[in-house]
Amino acid sequence: MSESRATLGHAPSIEIASLTKVYAEPNYALKDVSLSVEPGMFVVLLGPSGSGKSTLLRTVAGLERPTGGSISFDGRVVSSAVVHVPVERRELSMVFQDYALWPHMTVLDNVSFALKRLGLKSSDRRASAQEMLERMGLGRLCGQYPSSLSGGEQQRVALARALVAHPGLLLFDEPLSNLDTDLRERLRVEIATLTRETGATTIYITHDQAEAFALADRIGVLEKGRLVQFGTPEEIYRSPATPFVARFTGLAGELPCVVEHMDATTGSACLWFDDAKLDARAGGALARGDEARLLVRSASTALVSPNERERSDGGLIGHLRGVVRDVAFRGRGYDHLVEVGGGKTLAGVFHLERHERGAEVLVGLDADGCLVFPNSSGADSPSTEASVVEDLSVLSGSAAR
Ligand code: ADP
Repeated sequence: MSESRATLGHAPSIEIASLTKVYAEPNYALKDVSLSVEPGMFVVLLGPSGSGKSTLLRTVAGLERPTGGSISFDGRVVSSAVVHVPVERRELSMVFQDYALWPHMTVLDNVSFALKRLGLKSSDRRASAQEMLERMGLGRLCGQYPSSLSGGEQQRVALARALVAHPGLLLFDEPLSNLDTDLRERLRVEIATLTRETGATTIYITHDQAEAFALADRIGVLEKGRLVQFGTPEEIYRSPATPFVARFTGLAGELPCVVEHMDATTGSACLWFDDAKLDARAGGALARGDEARLLVRSASTALVSPNERERSDGGLIGHLRGVVRDVAFRGRGYDHLVEVGGGKTLAGVFHLERHERGAEVLVGLDADGCLVFPNSSGADSPSTEASVVEDLSVLSGSAAR
């Protein structure tokens, strides 16, 4: 493998500048997308179906040509309205959702074929492919054909094929979407480990926030062809740029509220929801008396049990009264769905002990995970209601606590 590593280029930096793609007027598949990827960085493009992820990835690969703007590798333009470096000259490997193995070739031939364009002797190609497959624990599959493999095995072979030539750039097109949950998690770890070992610049697309948070050095969130935020997973989770980003990266719920006080220097706001006074971080310009929307991360909620409630003197600062509507065992404890007034609910409210349906409880809210947006910022009318993600699976569990 070290032999092939020496043969291929290094991890490039990627500069995407004002990239636009129109397949059919007047719809923009990509609109004015700009971002910089440092060499060796693992970037995940996250967004709902139709947001432009595949178009962006395919344009980086050279499988699509942009309508406007440009893509440069190491400062050299490879895509623009007038420049087009073909895919085979971009020194990249791609892993697809449907594995895309050659059905008439054995596993070993599939992997060694990826080395063909490097001009290695057939025996060297096969030796490198065998080594890569052995290393991934797939040696026993060498002589088999793809049709005799499970989906997980096929995708691991596809990963071996992508990695064997040590390309400087790795592109992943929703590689885990067709796999079972258990397998997804294992393969995700394998992808994270192996790609980082190669040091390749990596762009990975998914609609799954859990995958994005687990894998990325940087996440780019796409909405309707626009890049609405680009940042570290922590920045995206802690300071979503828009209500869309907050929703798409997981919420316990949303509550209508009225601003009592706004501190512009700290960016913090004091709000009323029913008779509860709450603190939050402001995601836009707000003033006293404004009607706004409070977006709550699950990780910032905590269920307060009756004993704790007594100790809090019944005071409602930072707490909401509620009734448990559902409870789910999560191993370490329980996630509760709590109705908190006005028919609004908060999901993923954690407590070590189980509180049964119908129990009256308090929900404590940590201001750090409470984000208030003006109604005018789209907070009141989610454009992608169907894609709002509950915070239960990813960050409400052990990872975020
Ligand atoms: P995603 O990968 O996020 O699901 P896509 O990049 O596939 O999004 O699609 C973005 C938009 O471009 C969608 O509206 C889609 O219908 C449109 N689109 C994608 N590919 C084509 C194509 N080959 N021809 C016409 N429209 C396309």
